[in-house]
Amino acid sequence: MTKVATSRCVASARSSVMLALVPFLFAACTGSIEVDVGASGGSSASSQSEGPPPGQGTSAVPSGGVAGFVSSGGSGQLPAGMGGSGGGGGVGASGSTCAPGLTACGPECVDLKVDERHCGACGLTCPEGRECNNGVCGCPNGGMECGGTCVDVKTNGMHCGTCGNPCRGGQSCVNGICACPEGEEFCGVVCADVSRDANHCGRCDNPCPSGGTCEGRTCTCPEGRQACGDTCVDTSNDREHCGMCDKACSPTERCQNGMCVDGGGALLDDGCEGPAQNLEIEQIAVYQTVKIPLMQGGEAVSAEERKADVVAKREALFRVFVKPGSGFTPRQLSARVHIETDGMTETFFSDQKPTISGASTDEKLDSTFQVYVPRDKLLSSSLYSVEVVECGGATANGSVLRPRFPATGRLALGAVDTGVLKIAFVPIEANSSRPDTSETALEPYRAMLLATYPVTDVQMTVVEGMRTSYPINWPGVLDDVRARRQADRPASDVYYYGLLKPTGTLREFCGGGCTTGIGYVPSGVGQNSASARVAVGIGFSDRVSAETLAHEVAHNHGRLHAPCGNPDGPDRNYPYSGGAVGVWGFDFRGKTLVAPDRTDLMGYCNNKWLSDYTYQGLVETVRRVSGTASSVLQASAISARWLVLLVDEQGARWGHPIDEPAPPMGEPEPAEVLDGTGQAIQTVTVYRTVISDMEAYSIEVPVPQPGWHSIRVAGAPVHPFSAPRGHVSP
Ligand SMILES: [Zn+2]
Repeated sequence: MTKVATSRCVASARSSVMLALVPFLFAACTGSIEVDVGASGGSSASSQSEGPPPGQGTSAVPSGGVAGFVSSGGSGQLPAGMGGSGGGGGVGASGSTCAPGLTACGPECVDLKVDERHCGACGLTCPEGRECNNGVCGCPNGGMECGGTCVDVKTNGMHCGTCGNPCRGGQSCVNGICACPEGEEFCGVVCADVSRDANHCGRCDNPCPSGGTCEGRTCTCPEGRQACGDTCVDTSNDREHCGMCDKACSPTERCQNGMCVDGGGALLDDGCEGPAQNLEIEQIAVYQTVKIPLMQGGEAVSAEERKADVVAKREALFRVFVKPGSGFTPRQLSARVHIETDGMTETFFSDQKPTISGASTDEKLDSTFQVYVPRDKLLSSSLYSVEVVECGGATANGSVLRPRFPATGRLALGAVDTGVLKIAFVPIEANSSRPDTSETALEPYRAMLLATYPVTDVQMTVVEGMRTSYPINWPGVLDDVRARRQADRPASDVYYYGLLKPTGTLREFCGGGCTTGIGYVPSGVGQNSASARVAVGIGFSDRVSAETLAHEVAHNHGRLHAPCGNPDGPDRNYPYSGGAVGVWGFDFRGKTLVAPDRTDLMGYCNNKWLSDYTYQGLVETVRRVSGTASSVLQASAISARWLVLLVDEQGARWGHPIDEPAPPMGEPEPAEVLDGTGQAIQTVTVYRTVISDMEAYSIEVPVPQPGWHSIRVAGAPVHPFSAPRGHVSP
């Protein structure tokens, strides 16, 4: 045993291995010796005497050492001629010499050039999968070892041509070179057939428009589409490219047959999309103090057919009434009002998205859609359209009935321009008490006028105050305010309003009933006389005072009394019985509906609001006064100085004369001039103006000529021209 080991070491030493390899071989010997020594010290002499079988002898070489040698030392570095086989014949186990080219390794003669158990040297065993080639352990068939594995770098996709050179993007390794399949090009990261690859069409990195295909190296859009930039689009319905590339529709429009058209349930800022299904718009109405239907049952209500005009530049509520079809599924919907002015369209959304479960009704706000349109968005040139849209996705049962009005395009809103209501307040001291005319105290009046008058704004000023007697002589104080207006010479459209607050509270003042205000009621050509734009009323800054103001200024606008509460001179043309307002209304102050059974502002009953009749009467006067109406009544050519005769239940007395030549403000009628003996000597024309809310009149009388002593007008005592102002003929 020792001999075997020794011989191996001797053989190894004799091999004159390269110096660098000595430590390994020495270690191998040492290992062998230890094994051998251990074996010789073993108890089994018989097994030792038998000698190790060839395999055991081989295994006596620590495989780790050999493996380490082969793998890290690099068998390829061991020159074949120095592998220990170059010494010609060796000594065979039997003592005979091995044939030329073979070497004695223990009892065997081996060819160190090819023996995988003795490759290059006795006992150097090649690892599994390697073969001995020219005395060197290596990969079979010309393979290359890459990361511990033998590979064929001619065909291996991970090690193509050399280790660590993978083929990518569909390439395969052919003869050690990465290559795309026949007919394809390598485009950076992938193999592409540039004749039909939509990302590399005709050449690498030449993508076709989205939705397009590559055929014969050319990009093509599907039938009916064309390339706009990087997308194939159908220009017949594409909102960004409507009719042609880059012709975009506005946000409220959709593209139909290559034309931008309004609505269509496009996804807008309300988050809703798609025309409401199985539902029709039954009615559309604008609310500006009163309800003004624009559409009823699918038919437009033309401006001429309306009982009241929509007023431009005034806040408006569009209310959309709907009627679901049968089998309608209750769900959230929304409404939109599109307002187009001078080619620009703005869209307004309903303030809520109500759950619609049945037909809309007037009295239930949540059964309709409310769309508020700010005052500056509504002009006389504006057009409108309305649509109802789905907000939670359409239901399956839905057919489209009438979710839009008009069905296409827009309709003229037919709004009219009116004007601004201008009020000059005259604070009047009475009973040592003056009204508060601070901005805060006047605010209820402004709010009332804005809520009820068909005007675009209310301008209020406070002019110099005056004093009057108490108890109040109403026609007299009205005449005083008229004279003040005459002296101030304001613009013709300014209404003078005397404010009275003779007591601490309205209750103190009024007790069991009282007059709260009076004003001129011009008629005929008198409606053009600015002198009649005067009224007087209480100024407690409360609801009653505000309603009185609105009532008296409406008298100044020519409005007569509505037949409720038995007022003087009720309007025989008033259309609703009992002086009811007759139509629904809307009060923007609290955003509340007003029911038709409320009574008209021009009556004497409580729960006041405006009928469309009174409202429209105001529209027409405001338009005339502000000059926005196309036709203006021609003022009488008569311009003269006038005396003013006040006539009421106490009798007749002179008021302030009209010193500046002015056209008359009342209706003409004959009167008799008397001489000093009481004989009628002449008939003259006087002009009578009704004073509201008392049986009183203001009558313009010509300045007396020589010989005129007194005058007799209808319904009044004879009154001398010489009587001082305020002196009453009972
Ligand atoms: Zn009145």
